[in-house]
This record gives sequence, structure tokens and C-alpha cells, in this order.
Amino acid sequence: MRVRWSRIVLLILTIFTFGIYAVLTIAGVAMNNQPKPPRIPDETPPTVVLKGGEIVTVAINAPYKDDGVDAYDDRSEVQVSSNGEVDTTKEGEYVISYTVTDEDGNATTITRTVKVVQPTGIVHLTFDDGPGPYTAGLLDVLKKYGVKATFFVTGGGDDVLIKREYEEGHTVALHSFSHDYSYVYQNMDNYFADLYAVQDRVKNITGQTSMLIRFPGGSSNTVSRLYDGGSHIMSALANEVSKRGFTYFDWNISAGDAGSARTADEVFNRVVSALKPGGSSVVLQHDIKDFSVAAVERIIQHCTANGYVFAPLDASSFTAHHGINN
Ligand SMILES: [Zn+2]
Repeated sequence: MRVRWSRIVLLILTIFTFGIYAVLTIAGVAMNNQPKPPRIPDETPPTVVLKGGEIVTVAINAPYKDDGVDAYDDRSEVQVSSNGEVDTTKEGEYVISYTVTDEDGNATTITRTVKVVQPTGIVHLTFDDGPGPYTAGLLDVLKKYGVKATFFVTGGGDDVLIKREYEEGHTVALHSFSHDYSYVYQNMDNYFADLYAVQDRVKNITGQTSMLIRFPGGSSNTVSRLYDGGSHIMSALANEVSKRGFTYFDWNISAGDAGSARTADEVFNRVVSALKPGGSSVVLQHDIKDFSVAAVERIIQHCTANGYVFAPLDASSFTAHHGINN
């Protein structure tokens, strides 16, 4: 009896299980055959903006690094392809086109013109003492014209601005962490402790160890005499920084924005009247001075109209060294 009952239970269970399986399978097949709702095609092409200038002028035989584009689509990933080459050994106008395509095949194309010219001269715009409240606006102007500059930074201001300087292709160089003459020019140990502090700051933000520097007050400063106890610290530092692998820069055009110049007009006039045709102009400005930053757009326009090209400083650039007075 027992055996028979258990067989019957087993049989019922088997039929029941198979029944459920069959029902689920049929239902599943039926559901899979339901037509999927149609995907609404994306008809909006991607948005693309140039990073850097629409027209970029570079000196013949100088390196050219393309800034690329920023592209985005509201629905899908995008693919960017670029066309066109710049031959920096030959004067001329070169067009680079960037085509950005989304997954539905919508495409947007924009172009940049790169002019390779025999320049009137090279202009190195340099900005000391920042970053500060006017740095972001200055970066916007430089971006608009595709101009690369050099920032000799301090321990102050926002990290984000130093990151922007670096990411937008400018040279981030070292000025002083404290910018306190009485501390940095007291002795060599203080000077280097301060210099390495600002070098560390830049390294932490950009990942790069900068070896390009500008002394507070420039190498020709005499203010250091007030603090160095008669040790002629500038002479000693000029030697020692080079021994440690740094390159220091002075300038051959001062905007006067830390002294007698008080307006954007004065800054503009001082800079453009001192440009060096046939050579390199290393222009000193301060991006913590609003009126000085306000002159930059006109300086760029004037230089470009007169055949000058801009370049960021690197270790092989003209250093514009001053005579040392202490
Ligand atoms: Zn300074």
C-alpha cells in the first residue's frame, strides 16, 4: 500500500511540475514574440566646440600641438575623427576638420585654420603672482585666441585655476610659495624651501615637476640686499638654481603693472611700444591686477595684426636675463 501511494504522489508531482514548466514556456515564447516598441531614432547631431582658437598662428619651424575638440551627444557615445595636417616647415594656411558622429550616424563637422608664418617676432606672455580673481577671465581670453602663455605661480589662489592653466596648454612655472622677500632672500635654505613648496604644489595639481622659475622681483632685484645680511644672495642663487637643474627667466618688456601703470591703456601702450621685431619678447604682467588682465585682449589683437606669434616658455626659450645687482 505504502509503495503504491508514494508512486501516485510522485506521478502527480511530476505531472504538476511538467504542467507548470509547459505553461511558463508557452507564455515565454508568446511574450518573446510580442513586437518590441520601436526605438525613436536620434535626429540631433552631436554638439562640438573647438578647444583652442578657430584661427591659430604658429611660427615656421616651431612645434604645433593641436588642442582638439570637446564633443558631446544627448543620446549616445560619440566618435571623433580629424582630417588635415599642419606642415610647420612650410608657410601656408592649413585646415583641420573634426567630424563627430553619434551612434545613429548624425555627424557634425567643424574646422580650424592653422597659419604657419614667418613671424615678425615671438611673444611670450608671462603672468606672475597668481592665480587670482582675474585668472579665469584671462584664461578665457587666451582660449578665444588660441594663445598659450606662461604662469609663474605662487602658493596662493585656487588649485582649479592652476589645473586649468595646465590643461589648456599653458606653461605652469614657479615663482614663489610665500612671495615674502624678507623670508626667501634671508638665506639659500629659505629660498629653496619656499621654491620646493611651490614646486610640490604644482606637481600635486598637474603631475608635472616644473623646473622653470622666476625670482620674486627678478634676478636684478636689489630688495634682497635688505634681508640677506650682505651675502649677495642673488649672485649665489643664480648659480645654485642652475646647478640644481632649474632655468630662470626674467623679462625684456615690463607692463609696469606692479609700479607706475595704473590702467589697461597704459599697460597696452607699454607692451606694444616695446615689442622686439626679429626677436623674442618676454612680457611681464601680473594676473592679480585687473587692469593688466583687461589689456591682454588688445595686446593679442595688436601683436597678431602685426605678424607676431605667441608661444609658451620652455627650457629652450629665450630667458631675457637681467644683470644681477646683488
Ligand atoms: Zn612676483
